[in-house]
Amino acid sequence: MTPYDSIFQSAYFIKSAEKLSQCPLDQGVEVAFAGRSNAGKSTALNTLTSQKKLARTSKTPGRTQLINCFGLNLDDRRLIDLPGYGFAKVPIEMKKVWQAHMQDYLMNRRSLSGVVLVMDIRHPLKEFDEMMLDWAKANGMKVHVLLTKSDKLKRGPAKSTMLSIKRVLKEQGIDGSVQTFSALNGDGVDDLRLKLAQWLVLDNPEEIPVSPNA
Ligand code: GDP
Repeated sequence: MTPYDSIFQSAYFIKSAEKLSQCPLDQGVEVAFAGRSNAGKSTALNTLTSQKKLARTSKTPGRTQLINCFGLNLDDRRLIDLPGYGFAKVPIEMKKVWQAHMQDYLMNRRSLSGVVLVMDIRHPLKEFDEMMLDWAKANGMKVHVLLTKSDKLKRGPAKSTMLSIKRVLKEQGIDGSVQTFSALNGDGVDDLRLKLAQWLVLDNPEEIPVSPNA
């Protein structure tokens, strides 16, 4: 439990956008989730928000290339589910369109506060992840790496994977943090909520209306 759980539980679907110009008005603060297909991104979003179907799980790669936008019960605070896929299964033309839309969003979205980069802890730093880190570096973007399915590894190997990725971020000069996460046993759920509360609320306290119950 964290003091912020109810904010995430309040998440609701706003819209799906094909590209930046269709996203909600660019004001306030948002956090985007990115990850290869099957990394556990939908499951992480559902766990974060304590909702079973907020982000659809088990999507067909390449079929749902949309930016899904979710609102929270705080004015102009949003969670964004970015499209991701296993590159091998996707035609080159689709890759290019995806890259153009992602780059546009990541470079030009003013309300974007940081990106949660979701990786299966057993398969970290694939081509997709390296590209996201390159963009993060190029744009001075904050990154929080979520190493999912930590229940699949013993504590020792999980920790050493985490430390090696911390090292990579540091070497690449990226403003980043890393944690382990498991939807299965709850590892790291509170850490993720605290991190996102930091980005969405504590780092950006202005414009937050006082809750009527406060
Ligand atoms: P997405 O494509 O990144 O949205 O991935 P999904 O959330 O659909 O998850 C892909 C697969 O990994 C599904 O079979 C999930 O049940 C499984 N999965 C996701 N998170 C976890 C986890 O924390 N632990 C375990 N053991 N499996 C997980």
